[in-house]
Amino acid sequence: MSLRYGLRAKFALLAGIAILITIVVVAAMLHRQGATQREVQSLSRQSMHALASNRILSHGQGAVTQAADTLVNPLYYFDLDAIGGIVRNQLRQPDVSYAIVYDAEGRVIHDGSSDIATYGQPMADPFAYEVVSANELHVQSDAEVVDISVPIRIADQRLGGLRVGYSLASVKADEDRIGATLGERLEEVGRKHLLWIGMLLTVIAGLIAILALYLQHSVVKPIRRLGDAARQIESGDFEARVPSSARRDEIGDLVRAFAHMRDSIARHDRDVRRMAYTDSLTGLANRLAFREILDQRLFETSGAARQVALLFADIDDFKRVNDTIGHDAGDEVLMQFSSRMRDVIEARVGDDAVLARFGGDEFVILLQPSGDGADIREASARLAEALVEELGRPIMVHGRHVFLGISIGVTLYPEDASNASTLMKNGDIAMYQAKVAGKNCFRFYSRAMDQAVERRVRMEQDLRGAWERGELSLAYQPIFRLADGKLVGAEALLRWQHPEQGSVSPSLFIDVAEQSGLIETIGPQVLRAACFDARRWQRDFPAGRELFVSVNVSPRQLRAADLSAQVHDVLRETGLAPQHLHIELTETAVIGDEARVSALLARLRNAGVKVWLDDFGTGFSGLSHLRRVPVDGVKIDRSFIADVLRDPDDLALTTAIIAMAHSLGIHVVAEGVEKEGQYAILRERGCDLAQGFWLGHPMTSHDFTGLLA
Ligand code: C2E
Ligand code: MG
Ligand code: MG
Repeated sequence: MSLRYGLRAKFALLAGIAILITIVVVAAMLHRQGATQREVQSLSRQSMHALASNRILSHGQGAVTQAADTLVNPLYYFDLDAIGGIVRNQLRQPDVSYAIVYDAEGRVIHDGSSDIATYGQPMADPFAYEVVSANELHVQSDAEVVDISVPIRIADQRLGGLRVGYSLASVKADEDRIGATLGERLEEVGRKHLLWIGMLLTVIAGLIAILALYLQHSVVKPIRRLGDAARQIESGDFEARVPSSARRDEIGDLVRAFAHMRDSIARHDRDVRRMAYTDSLTGLANRLAFREILDQRLFETSGAARQVALLFADIDDFKRVNDTIGHDAGDEVLMQFSSRMRDVIEARVGDDAVLARFGGDEFVILLQPSGDGADIREASARLAEALVEELGRPIMVHGRHVFLGISIGVTLYPEDASNASTLMKNGDIAMYQAKVAGKNCFRFYSRAMDQAVERRVRMEQDLRGAWERGELSLAYQPIFRLADGKLVGAEALLRWQHPEQGSVSPSLFIDVAEQSGLIETIGPQVLRAACFDARRWQRDFPAGRELFVSVNVSPRQLRAADLSAQVHDVLRETGLAPQHLHIELTETAVIGDEARVSALLARLRNAGVKVWLDDFGTGFSGLSHLRRVPVDGVKIDRSFIADVLRDPDDLALTTAIIAMAHSLGIHVVAEGVEKEGQYAILRERGCDLAQGFWLGHPMTSHDFTGLLA
């Protein structure tokens, strides 16, 4: 474990500094102790010295004075023998190193020796001068000797004196001995001291170590573990273990507060996740959650022999529910659909599938059969089939039966794609193909579909500017009055001559133009061209004088611009009378925004333009709708007309539409009349107008003028 500059490092530093200071203090103390010992030794030596010299002095003074008194007579009579006896007696005294009797001039008379070698010689030692000149007892000393001299007198006559030298050698020897003993003792005391200090230091170091351990255990370790846990939590792992603590101190509080914080963050995270990962309406997993699950599954599956299927489901014509019954109903439908899908999945594949809502009316199912060797293609086909069947049943919404369906695209992993994004794109493509194939069915993804999508994209590019390049033109399909078989008008139908692909079916390119928004620029051009042509027929041909032209207008055109202003401009520009222009709207266009569209239609009709509802009967609204939307006529969809001879229901419905329309004062046009029989029966039932291949195919403008001529 590296020693970061953390708490432990700081504590180690502090402890180091403390130990260092202690060592310095101890060293200073030891030094001081040595000095004190030396001082004690010298002081004791001094006092010992003083004591010894005082003893010598007081004893010596008495002894020398006494001896001087006994010397008076012998000196007066100059009795050398007696003097010698007294001097030798002095010399025998302890510590006496010399004893000298001298005359008044300071010359040696006797020094205690037998031959008195120094007799008559003046004393020349350093003390001599003071000895001779002193008038009473005089003491002098140096390091080795204490010199005591007493003058000897008789009456006022000075005879000489006695001086005795006391050696200090024994005193010094005593001092040395005692000094040495003292030194030893002091040293011993010092050693004891040192031992104590050593023990003290050891105890302090031990205490520091214990403190460090305690700190490590009770502060650093919990804080470290909290730090680790915090990092774990930060990385999203809320299982991070927080040291459990029953401690009643601040660290304990911190640990408990941390654990609470972790729990609340985890709870918060769960809530946020739940919100972020579930669809609030249906409670299903949402796009985000699904994407994560898918990534995870693909990751687990890659390399393994297992397969995954993705089912993209989209409710057919869901928008119409929203538009006609309202958004509440739309939500209701979504909920019912999701619960039905859940039931089907539950019953068919159980836990092998994950259902998610992708937003809007899109649902996605991830299927991964758990049984080994299960044929994924067959399993997903069975599931898709069951879903299509179940969701094709009517549902009750706001007291109404609503018929919807579902289109499903199925794509397989790893067969169709190697990653999640492509897989999802494929599912979308396959679903779209199911829609194109007529909805309420399912399709497996195939590579050919990719090409279809590509074609669509290319078509959109090619369609841009096609009108300006002259690739787009109008065909006219004649419309006849059934009562007398007279030609009364024509429907303008857009044609596209692609430079490479030749003529493209309107069912293909109109759809592309609608979805890409190109129709908003093409539409007005169609309107202008059709009006020009119609005005020309009226001008140039007697048979065309009363002809009307009927123009298809897409829902997008209605929403985008003010159609009535556009129509007004075109009519003024071309000089066509308003009643000779018919606008064909599909039901979906009308249904979306009823109030606005009704107002728009009212404006058009007030201007004299006729409005027809195209493909009537295929839509959703039913006859009741006609009461609310002001139109001049309905065009019965050719799917009804096709079966009018065979299917009594279709005939009944057609008859009902005609009767109903007439009761409302609006006209009826029959589309797709391909047989004479159809024509006859429609005439019999009182239908007003008709168009169809039997009456006349859509033709070029040139051919149409030929017809008029
Ligand atoms: P629609 O308005 O219902 O047009 C009638 C369609 O029925 C035309 O198809 C016409 O060729 C076809 N038709 C006519 N008589 C018969 C018949 O006897 N039997 C059969 N089976 N079909 C017949 P087309 O020309 O392919 O147009 C398809 C749709 O494209 C049109 O349906 C219309 O909704 C749309 N469309 C055409 N031109 C325009 C346009 O300029 N603008 C807009 N917004 N849509 C257009
Ligand atoms: Mg039409
Ligand atoms: Mg039609």
